[in-house]
Amino acid sequence: MAELFYDDDADLSIIQNRKVAVLGYGSQGHAHALSLRDSGVDVRVGLHEGSKSRAKAEEQGLRVTAPAEAVQEADVIMVLVPDPIQAKVYEESIAPHLKDGDALFFGHGLNIRYDFIKPPASVDVCMVAPKGPGHLVRRQYEEGRGVPCIAAVEQDASKSAFALALSYAKAIGGTRAGVIKTTFTEETETDLFGEQAVLCGGTASLVKAGFDTLVEAGYQPEIAYFECLHELKLIVDLMYEGGLEKMRWSVSETAEWGDYVSGPRIINDQTRAEMKKILGEIQDGTFANNWMAEYKAGLPKYSEYKKADEDSLLATTGEKLRNLMSWVDEDK
Ligand code: NDP
Ligand code: MG
Ligand code: MG
Repeated sequence: MAELFYDDDADLSIIQNRKVAVLGYGSQGHAHALSLRDSGVDVRVGLHEGSKSRAKAEEQGLRVTAPAEAVQEADVIMVLVPDPIQAKVYEESIAPHLKDGDALFFGHGLNIRYDFIKPPASVDVCMVAPKGPGHLVRRQYEEGRGVPCIAAVEQDASKSAFALALSYAKAIGGTRAGVIKTTFTEETETDLFGEQAVLCGGTASLVKAGFDTLVEAGYQPEIAYFECLHELKLIVDLMYEGGLEKMRWSVSETAEWGDYVSGPRIINDQTRAEMKKILGEIQDGTFANNWMAEYKAGLPKYSEYKKADEDSLLATTGEKLRNLMSWVDEDK
């Protein structure tokens, strides 16, 4: 079972006695930087020339410098720029200014797990990753609560890196809810698998296949959209609140029957075998290397797939129907 840590297990003064640089001010960066500051931590935000987030950070009372300058000043560096550019930011703005005893922090383990970033042995390498989007992390902190975090140490140069990670987690509200100890390997591989196979990859493909099946059989696309995409939210909300049990309790017995009988015909042995293959490619690095190569090439296939889906009947039907539902806010 997982090891859990709470407020009493973490010493806030450890991070209060360090100087923190938060690189990036997006979803996670803004939540970390503001909550660290409100927890009495000396924090500066490192942003590149021309960053869109700069004005917001300054408006919210934070000091913004160039990334290299922030790293120079600080002894704890939290890297919250997009994953595909972290290695470049590391080479250009972090590595030249890292000192022995510094700590390098991440919100996701990808670049360390696959050796895109190779820090020197003289620095701590830690992860504190909230299990929720940044705006929720910040809002919970402001309300005196917190979002659960996972924390890991890849390299323990100081022999006290985990205590530092817990202290950091406490400063952003994580230990109020609970911090689970993990490793960079476990976090990265499960995060990628979840996204690829279930949350984004699996779910979107299931929706598309269901929609296409109904439309090809002659049903109206609008009706198919409601059945296969729109209503998914009701089901997911129930699962989120009370697991599969609450979903089964809430839906009709006929619908529940599908869970036992039709579901396993869709997610069958072949699907499970393919999931194992996807996991294997994540574990052996094939997935990360292919994705980085695609990113470096300027995202040619990604753009092609995106365009095809934007022009699909599912997309155009959805756009039309969402306009009929005043409570559906596209910006959220
Ligand atoms: P965002 O895309 O929301 O924000 C990235 C930020 O980095 C922006 O402020 C961007 O500025 C800035 N930036 C871009 N290039 C540079 C640069 N060269 N130097 C300095 N800053 C730069 O990222 P997320 O917050 O989503 O992700 C950050 C990390 O957190 C990732 O490792 C991610 O995996 C992890 N994470 C994200 C979660 C989430 O819910 N989003 C959840 C848990 C972990 P600009 O405004 O100009 O674009
Ligand atoms: Mg420094
Ligand atoms: Mg992810």
